[in-house]
Parts: sequence; C-alpha cells; structure tokens
Amino acid sequence: MKVTIIYDNTSFREDLKADWGFSALIEARGKRILFDTGARGDILFDNMSALAIDPRSIEEVFISHPHADHTGGLSDFLRINPVRVVIPISSPAPKGAEVLRVGEPREIHPGIYSTGELAGIEQSMVVDSGPGLVVLCGCAHPGVGVILDAASQFGEVKGLIGGLHGFSAFDRIKGLDLICPAHCTAHRSEIMRRFSESCLEGGAGRVIEIGKGIFCNRS
Ligand SMILES: [Zn+2]
Ligand SMILES: [Zn+2]
Repeated sequence: MKVTIIYDNTSFREDLKADWGFSALIEARGKRILFDTGARGDILFDNMSALAIDPRSIEEVFISHPHADHTGGLSDFLRINPVRVVIPISSPAPKGAEVLRVGEPREIHPGIYSTGELAGIEQSMVVDSGPGLVVLCGCAHPGVGVILDAASQFGEVKGLIGGLHGFSAFDRIKGLDLICPAHCTAHRSEIMRRFSESCLEGGAGRVIEIGKGIFCNRS
C-alpha cells in the first residue's frame, strides 16, 4: 500500500504548493483511488504533475465530506477523468459522474472499506494494508474515537493518516504503528511530540509506503 499526499496545508517537498485542503492518492489492492480533491483544481493538477501522477490513471474518487477544502478540485478532476465518485450519503452528488452513496459501513473493493457516513457528515476510508488496517481521514469532524471505533469492525487498526481536526484525546491513538497528522490537525506538534516513534510529518509530497514486514517505512 502506498499513500501519496498530493494536497495539504503544508508542503513536504519544496516543488509542491501548499494550500488549505487535503488530497491523497491511495494505491492499494491493485486500485488507484483519489482520496478527496483539495480546494482548487489548478493546485491539485500542478502537484499531481510534480509527483508524476497522471490524473487519467486514477480509477475512482473517494470524498470524505462535502467541505470545499476537500471537494473544490472535484469538478475540474471529473472534467478530465469522469470516474465513479464515492460520497457520504448526505453529500450533494457531483454532476456528470457515476456516484456511489455510502450510508452504512461497507466494503467498496476487496480490502477497502468505508466507515459509512458518521455524524451525518463524513466517511473515512479503511484499507487492509496486510499488516493492519490504515484509516484515512479528511477532517475527522465526527471525532477520531468515533472513526477508529467504526473502522475497528473491519479488523485491527494500525495506522491513521489525514486531518484530525481538534482531536486531543491522545490516549485513543496510543499503540498505533503509524500516525500521520495532516491538514487541519490542531494539535499536530503535541501529537508529534507524544508519539514521535510512530509519527510521520504530512505535507504535500509525502509518500508513505506500507509493506509486509515493515509497517512504517520512513522514506
Ligand atoms: Zn471539513
Ligand atoms: Zn478540511
């Protein structure tokens, strides 16, 4: 499994633009899925091109929740590549695309799940990476605890990547092998300090590879 952060509030690589929003390419289980689309299509495409990601190679878009910093690039993306879009059930459907609306927790592809829409707003993606489940959050508006509880129905959660918003119940993420607090995470430095062994800095351009023996490859 490979996660490439394309769009983030900060940049991990100098040649990528930082902008408030989140998007990542998830390569797992033979699928290439775009998780959220950032706020602006032009920045999304510029960063993709710097990362040598061809937008046409992406097979599906997974939208965590209908806030503009996650969906702003969607219409531009669909104009170039009109793939299926997986959205939380109460989200407005994008025009000109096949849509899968997710209410209840479910498998989307073998080993790739949605927590279902939580708190009436947001779904998280859960990927069976082999050594454990990895959870991808947009903003984590429902709360990290609620998201981890929902993800746990699919197995043991080992990794957490994405925006964690105001999350501060730090005991809840104790024991995770991989934490990448990105985007809107308010207590990022506190999380990085407390969990320095398992934390990876986010930012546009960060690539996280999760392999067989080594869960977290600090590339
Ligand atoms: Zn949000
Ligand atoms: Zn956000």
